[in-house]
Amino acid sequence: MKPADCEFEAEALAAALQSRWPERVDAALRAHVAGCAICSDVVAVAGAIDAAREGMGVAVPDSGQVWWRAQLRARREAAEAAGRPITAIQAIAFACAVGLLVACFDTASQWFQPALGWIASNAAEHAALLLATAAVVLLLPAAVYLAMGRD
Ligand SMILES: [Zn+2]
Repeated sequence: MKPADCEFEAEALAAALQSRWPERVDAALRAHVAGCAICSDVVAVAGAIDAAREGMGVAVPDSGQVWWRAQLRARREAAEAAGRPITAIQAIAFACAVGLLVACFDTASQWFQPALGWIASNAAEHAALLLATAAVVLLLPAAVYLAMGRD
């Protein structure tokens, strides 16, 4: 029966995994592996695994990089999850603002008709008032839209 382990097994395995086998190892280790069943098996298996890994072109990424990517992804997902309710509330607020604007305009339209006629008849005198009214009517929805569009 063969012995279960050998004192040079770790050294032979390290040499095979670091692609130092068989050129860049001591002659003593090479001689031992040639005569030792355990070490020759270790070198053969490690060499086969190394060759298969290179043949498949599988590049195992660095564990630190994997951890860093996982952290970035978790942070991005948390930010997206936190941003979702805010977007919904902004949409509801925008709908309320539009509804309020329409309701105000509808209510004021009865007052608007004679006011528009009065402004038109006194256009020269009330150009400033007309400009201010136009600015409020045009700029307010634009300001609300821009505030909602900015995330
Ligand atoms: Zn051995």
